[in-house]
This record gives sequence, structure tokens and C-alpha cells, in this order.
Amino acid sequence: MARNKYDMDEILEDSFDTKQLKRLAGYVSPYKTKMAGVIVLMLSSSALTMMVPIFFQRIMDFYIPDKNMEKILTVSLLTLAIACYSAVAMRFKIKTMSVIGQSIIHAIRNDIFNHLQELPFSYYDDRPHGKIQVRVVNYVNSLSDLLSNGIVNTVTDLCNLIFIIIFMLICDARLTLICLCGLPLLAVVIVFIKRKQRRAWQIQSNKQSNLNAYIAESINGIRVTQSFVRENENTHIFSNLSGSYRNAWMRAVKFNFTMGPSVDMISAITTSFVYVLGIRWILAPDATLTVGILIAFTAYIGRFWAPINTLAGFYNSLLTAISYLERIFETIDEPVLVQDAKDASVMPSIRGDVEFRDVCFSYEEGHRILDHINFTVSQGQTYAFVGPTGAGKSTIVNLISRFYNVDSGQILIDGNDISTVTIRSLRTQMGVMMQDSFIFSGTIMDNIRYGNKEAADEQVIAAAKTVCAHDFISQMENGYHTEVNERGSRLSAGQRQLISFARALLADPKILILDEATSSIDTETEILLQKGLNELLKGRTSFIIAHRLSTIKNADCIMYVDQGGILEHGTHEELLAQKGAYYELYMSQFDFLSPANA
Ligand code: ADP
Repeated sequence: MARNKYDMDEILEDSFDTKQLKRLAGYVSPYKTKMAGVIVLMLSSSALTMMVPIFFQRIMDFYIPDKNMEKILTVSLLTLAIACYSAVAMRFKIKTMSVIGQSIIHAIRNDIFNHLQELPFSYYDDRPHGKIQVRVVNYVNSLSDLLSNGIVNTVTDLCNLIFIIIFMLICDARLTLICLCGLPLLAVVIVFIKRKQRRAWQIQSNKQSNLNAYIAESINGIRVTQSFVRENENTHIFSNLSGSYRNAWMRAVKFNFTMGPSVDMISAITTSFVYVLGIRWILAPDATLTVGILIAFTAYIGRFWAPINTLAGFYNSLLTAISYLERIFETIDEPVLVQDAKDASVMPSIRGDVEFRDVCFSYEEGHRILDHINFTVSQGQTYAFVGPTGAGKSTIVNLISRFYNVDSGQILIDGNDISTVTIRSLRTQMGVMMQDSFIFSGTIMDNIRYGNKEAADEQVIAAAKTVCAHDFISQMENGYHTEVNERGSRLSAGQRQLISFARALLADPKILILDEATSSIDTETEILLQKGLNELLKGRTSFIIAHRLSTIKNADCIMYVDQGGILEHGTHEELLAQKGAYYELYMSQFDFLSPANA
């Protein structure tokens, strides 16, 4: 998929794949017995309710003329009992279906979230995160109405319709036929608007997604927005997106509004025909109709159109839900490009030999980032990557954890191709500290323990001490139990780095990857940290990306990465002696730091 952003609509499917409805049925099926119970209850209630007009017809045509008070009283009490039964049945239906609807939504939401957890980095690289959130929250919620009431109402309304037609036929076949003439008219309306209505709801969901993407992006970037005083521009963009969403919604809902009045109109036309012809037949010399039958029949007409109205409403919400379902299942079906091979084995306990064998890699087709990379690292060695920004250093270390699949070549750890072992067994033996030191909401203790959920408090504290984080943590109001917000907004960049450093170490990894680990740490802490680290790196293979060359001077090998390849490699001294790119880089930092330039 091409990269998407907040002002780019997603591609709309032309025809609806009915497989999606079948899949939805899969979520509904565990509740089918309960739903069948509700349907039976509702049908019994409506069958009984349908007796009421017949009761009135009896009262009008027989019991009143016969002055039979006893029968009138009995029938009235029966009517009251039916009303009570219907009320109880309705309450049971609402309660049961709300629980079922929410349970189904819960299951769909879990599936989509679990799948999101497995999707590779590339999935998240390709689209705004707000567009992902809207699927998990808003789209899934939008199915609520359909699932809570839609399905049961549709089945009961369809059955009701059949009951009503039977009762109408019992009253008078000719009047029933007049009513049924309205149905083809309604079918014409549905066929006419169906396609446009579906497209309108698809567009609406796209606009909602765009708006959400922009909201998420704006909240994440609020500090930059305010520092560059971009509030007005952002408000303008937001207002445009919100306006498009409003317009799309109005266009879509316009079609929904067409259905109700169309049903009412057709109902009014057929009802007036029923009255005109019914009265004629009553007044005809050979009176083929009684007043009681006409009154009973007109009561049925109301009930005949009521389920049709609800069915039309259901049809509207089905079309709306379909546009959301497409997106929901699209996410659940998103291929997990980085996943265990079918015959993947468990990575044995890692010793730490790493080899890149002719590795090529590109994020986007045709745009190669790494070109035939080869190097071998022996167990326990420290390899450092340096080079200009955008050279591919982070990409190389991301490939070691298999966050992306290589285009060609192999990455071997202790001789095992990492694409042939399970991702879990590979990653649990690695400690990765990424450039973005993400902090989760919770305590500092929780954040460090993220690296190894089994770790005891003492181990967490020991890891923090090693990376010199202990002092600043102890000074916080609740020490290790201080609550921090998502992204760690109350921590300095350096403190965040130290916490994620401790997190990476806690897993006691055999391979340690530190991407710009010390870039925000002051020189004093760095010197302390370096001491702890030197101890800690012993016996572990480590890969370090650092801009400050002082951090990696002691590495076993330094690789200068540029233009998709490794231009130079060797120890610090060897590279300086070569007087190549590394030498230039070192000298430029040295110059920069020298007193003359201070
Ligand atoms: P370095 O760590 O050396 O600064 P990176 O490995 O992060 O460089 O990036 C190497 C190149 O790959 C850059 O040109 C960058 O624009 C590109 N790149 C990095 N991440 C992605 C991504 N997720 N999608 C597409 N291109 C990317």
C-alpha cells in the first residue's frame, strides 16, 4: 500500500464481499441459542398482540350488539394480560441483546487489537496511527446498534410481517392485496438509492478516519505546534477536515432519511385506497364487508408498515455497518509480513555470534537502503556503527531483531538463520534500546520491568544502578513507584533514555542493541554509565549506534556506514590511521569540541 496520511482517502471497495457478513456471522454464532430464545419470545408476544384487533372486531360486530358484558370483560382482561406479557418480553429482549451485542463487539475488538500487536513495523510506517485507532474504537462501536437490536429485530419483524399478512388475509383478501401492492414500489426506491447510499457511507467513514488521523497527529505534535505558533494553521486544517466529515455525513444520512418518508408515503397511499374501497364495499347493497372487519384491518395496516419501516431502518444500518466492517476485517486480514516460518524452530540459547551474509534491504520497492552488507561479529564483541544521518545504521540493527524481513541474503545468529527461528525465542534473548525511548503510563518500576516481567524489585533496582538511573529515580517523590505518563512527559529526555536502558538490560540479553543510547545523557553521567556498561557488556555481543564518538572508541570494531554499505571498518586506531571518512568525522567532532570553537 502507498503511504497514507491524514488528507488521503483510503481506497474504496466497489462491490461488497458477502464473505464479510459470513465472518460477522461467525462472531454471532456462539450466541445463536440465546438469540433464538429471544426471537421465540418476541414472536410469541407479537402473535398474541396480533389477536387484539380480532378481539375488537368481535366486540364491535358481536358482543356489543348482543350486549354480552361478560365476554367484553373477558376479552378486555385478555388484552391487558397480553400487554403485560409483551412488556416483560421486550425488557428481556433489550437486556439480553445488549449483553450479546457488547460481547460480540468485545470479541471483534480483541481480535483486531491482538492482530495489531503482531503486525510488523512496516504496517505502522505506512499509515497514520489515528486511522488505526478509529478502526479499533469508533468503527467497532458503530456495529453496536446492528448487533444489539438489528439481527433480532429483523428476524422478528420478518416473522411479524408474515403473521400480519395471515391475519389480514383472514380479515379480507382483497384489502390485503391492495396493501401488498405497496411493496414493489418500495423495492424500486431501495434499488434506486442502494449503490449511492453505500458509497456515501464509505466516503463518510473515510472522512472520519482522516479527521481522527489529524487529531492524533496534532496531539502528538502539540509541543512543536505551540513552539512554532502554528495553532491557527492547524485549526484551519482541522476545520476543513471536520467540514468534509460533516458534509460526507450529511450526504450519507440524506439517503437514510429518504427511506422512512418513502415507506410512510407508500403506506398512506395504500391506506387511503383501503378506506375508499372498504367503505364502498360496506355501503354496497350486498355489503361484502363489515365495519368491524374494516376497523380491525386498518389496525393491521399500521402493524404491517411498522416492521417494514424497521426493516428499512435495519437496511440503512446494515449499509453503514458494511462500510465499517470492510475496514475492520481489512485490518484483521492484514498479512503479518514478519512471522514465524511454518517449520520455525526455537532459537537455542544464544551465544552471540552474528553474521550478515550479503544482506540487501529496502523499505519501499525499488528504493534500496542496504546493499549487499557483509560482516561477522564474534561472541562477546562490541560493534559500533557510525556515519551520516540516514545512512542505514538503525536499519541494520532493526534487522538483527527481525523487525523487518530482508530482501535477500541472510542474518545468522550462532549459525542459525533468524528467519528460520521463532520470533519470540529470538527477541526474548535480545535487549533492544531504540532511539525513541518510549515510556508507558505506570510506575517507573513497571517501565523497567517491561524488559522482563519476572524480574524482582531488586533486579530492577540493580539494572537501574548499572545505568546510573538509580539516583534520579530515588529522588523522585515515590522513588521507583512514581507514576509517569505515557511518553514520560514528566521526565527529561536523558532520564527517559536511562530508564529504557535499564529496561533493555533487565532481560539479561546475550545480544544488546543500543541505538543512540547516550545521545541525551550529560557527559558526567555518560562517563559513569560507560564504566557500568563496560562491565556489563562483557560476555555479550553488542551493537551500538552513537553520534558521540567518545562512546564507542573502545569498540572491537567500528563500521562507518554510508550509501547503503559499510565504507570502512576497524578499530578506532585503525580507522584513524586510514585517514578516511571516520577520521574526517572524528576530527570534525574534535574540532567542534576544541576550545577554539567553544
Ligand atoms: P540512520 O540510523 O543511519 O540515521 P536509518 O537506518 O534510520 O538511518 O535510515 C536509513 C534510510 O532509510 C533513510 O534514508 C531513511 O529515510 C529510510 N527509512 C528509515 N526508516 C524508514 C521507514 N520506516 N520507511 C521508509 N524509509 C525509512
